[in-house]
Amino acid sequence: MSDGAGTRQSDVPALAPFHVLAKPTGAICNLDCAYCFYLEKEDLYPDGRFRMDDSVLEAYIGQLLASQAGPEATVAWQGGEPAIMGVDFYRRAVQIAEELRAPDQRVVYTIQTNGTLLSDELCEVFAEHDFLVGISIDGPREMHDAHRVDKRGQPTYDRVIEGLERLAAHRVEFNVLCTVNSANEDHPLEVYRHLRDDLGAEFIQFIPVVEHDTATGEGTGQRVSGRSVAPDAWGRFLIDVFDTWVTRDVGRVFVNHFDAGLASWLGLPPGMCIFAETCGDALALEHNGDLYSCDHFVDGRHRLGNITETSLPELVGSDAQRAFGNAKRDTLPSYCRECEVFFACHGECPKNRFTTTPAGDPGLNYLCAGYKAFFGHVDGPMRLMADLLRQGRHADEVMKIFATAGRNEPCPCGSGRKAKLCHGR
Ligand code: SF4
Ligand code: SF4
Repeated sequence: MSDGAGTRQSDVPALAPFHVLAKPTGAICNLDCAYCFYLEKEDLYPDGRFRMDDSVLEAYIGQLLASQAGPEATVAWQGGEPAIMGVDFYRRAVQIAEELRAPDQRVVYTIQTNGTLLSDELCEVFAEHDFLVGISIDGPREMHDAHRVDKRGQPTYDRVIEGLERLAAHRVEFNVLCTVNSANEDHPLEVYRHLRDDLGAEFIQFIPVVEHDTATGEGTGQRVSGRSVAPDAWGRFLIDVFDTWVTRDVGRVFVNHFDAGLASWLGLPPGMCIFAETCGDALALEHNGDLYSCDHFVDGRHRLGNITETSLPELVGSDAQRAFGNAKRDTLPSYCRECEVFFACHGECPKNRFTTTPAGDPGLNYLCAGYKAFFGHVDGPMRLMADLLRQGRHADEVMKIFATAGRNEPCPCGSGRKAKLCHGR
């Protein structure tokens, strides 16, 4: 046991790299997005203050920096809405990190925000300390406002754009997190072009919305809410964006699923926990120091302990967390193990594994049909890019290969189909 506050680099044994999403306001947010899975976590803390205090802040940053083996450590903030904490909290966080980091250690600061509370003062701090800011936006106005509303049910698109403009004015680097749901699932290119061209996003994360249907009382059953993306639509969405990306944006725009796919085709770790073989290295920290197995498993069963009582490395390396991580691999149905895109998919995130295989085995991912279609479709181009990289060339040369192929010639991906019916559509 240790109190952890003020822990320095040499006090704690090094662990394999892990990532913590810290939630300084817990589930508290100024918005009321219809599909948010985190707002209900407020109920875990009926007497909570929902503001991370200085002792937890110091314990978190000190223990995190001390336990990261490499030259770089990431201090990541998320919510709820972390910007509610205000500018002084982030000034203090940076001050603590600067005091506690090892001389040769670089600290990377990230924050995921809805973008509606970004003051000039906050942007100045972000700019001064090179924060990487993730902005949540679901595409053009009408698609974004379909679900991303405030507590009065009012649309938020204009306020998010104001926040983005403020970030740009202060030259703060940003990326975009875009959920794919029933309102935008049929408009992949409209969404992608909006993010790329209108907002200037170069780093884009797509996140599928998969919600159990609680309205019917089947909170953990196989039915999903009407806001959820359909499995086939999710596959089509990724495929359509990929086909545009692979013919004009490789090396210029970075999309999480495409980067992860290319890594898998190269035999490297995918860089996204959902496609890794096991879980366990992406944890969530609540405002009071409670540490949970994962952002998607913040509940009584997955509370590992509190970092003001037991150190972060002890909790990350605990038997409970290892068991949680290995369960991802060990509970897969044989349908997944025998799947031809298993090496890239690994059954995706356990939170989405609530359907059954054609043989009736439980534990199949709700999004399976989409992933089968997507990974099957990108196989040829991924092989081409992986070969280029193995030859010491650049992945973006793939665009030239596709550009010079005639529309009536065989598609360069090797599918045997005409290019115009394949990746040259
Ligand atoms: S449960 Fe899902 S989100 Fe959490 S670590 Fe595992 S794959 Fe990642
Ligand atoms: S595509 Fe479907 S069957 Fe294949 S590994 Fe993914 S979830 Fe399993």
